[in-house]
Amino acid sequence: MRKNKSTGVIVVSTNRVLRTRTVSLLQRHNFIAFECLTANDAMQCLSEHNNIRLVITDNTLPDMTGTQFVASLRKAFSKEQLAIMGIAGGQGMLMSAHFIKSGANDFLRVPYCHEEFLCRVMQNVEYIESVEEIRRVANTDYLTGLPNRRHFFYMVTVQSQLLSDKHALALIDLDFFKSINDTYGHDAGDIVLKAMAALIEFYFPDEIISRFGGEEFCIYFPNTPVAEACMRLDDFRKVVEAEVIQLPKANIKVTCSIGVCGESTQRVDKLLSSADKQLYEAKNNGRNQVICDQIDCLPK
Ligand code: GH3
Ligand code: MG
Ligand code: MG
Repeated sequence: MRKNKSTGVIVVSTNRVLRTRTVSLLQRHNFIAFECLTANDAMQCLSEHNNIRLVITDNTLPDMTGTQFVASLRKAFSKEQLAIMGIAGGQGMLMSAHFIKSGANDFLRVPYCHEEFLCRVMQNVEYIESVEEIRRVANTDYLTGLPNRRHFFYMVTVQSQLLSDKHALALIDLDFFKSINDTYGHDAGDIVLKAMAALIEFYFPDEIISRFGGEEFCIYFPNTPVAEACMRLDDFRKVVEAEVIQLPKANIKVTCSIGVCGESTQRVDKLLSSADKQLYEAKNNGRNQVICDQIDCLPK
């Protein structure tokens, strides 16, 4: 019941008695219930609220049939994003099959038993929330909470389809991180990784960031001139250098090396392999520095 407080459910029906009864039943169980009379109103409501997990729709709507409405909803939302439950009266045995074939997750005949209605609502909402949770876990790095490599690729691929040449990608690697583990223990190393992740999150709120693996982080700057990205990365490098990280038995400082690629390409793998080369250069050149493939934007 407590969890329901943030879950929105839309009820679409022209039958005022059915609509208001259904809505009040949902509200009594703490759902945020929205009443709509037409398919278009419901679409509008969905576009205005991002907390809606379930649409309950009657079959006779003024602008289209319930099954047509379900089919058009399915063009915008998958079964894992939004649950749809058809409701309809009458004796026709095929109605539930029509709804389910059109893409509904469930169907309930009216008049319904309150208990059964609530069980089905909960089951549908819990299904959507479980998929959301699985997706969140699959996309997140467990230690730092940052997006993981898999999610990073997905995000950058989606973004770089929209944007072309004005972008940059940076690989950040902590310097001599192994010696922190060796000196202070693995748990201390974890604290350093978390501190680094928090700094990246704070300094790059509008970029696509990721823990790429180990002590390596990746940042994609969409729609940013590479020179600007390099300046910000060099400022960040100085922030890391100055940061004091508190470990249980010592306060320590770390540095990082950064490789940047500003190549005009849609290929993420090309951006990455070039940034990796620059990172290798930065390490060989003495660490604690930013090196970019575009010569004229090397920080002074
Ligand atoms: P360089 O300056 O050349 O990058 O040296 P480095 O010591 O940072 O790099 P190296 O690749 O030799 O060592 C990386 C270490 O990171 C080795 C590995 O045990 C450690 N590591 C990887 N993932 C984790 C983690 O999740 N937690 C901790 N504590 N250590 C990790
Ligand atoms: Mg390292
Ligand atoms: Mg490394």
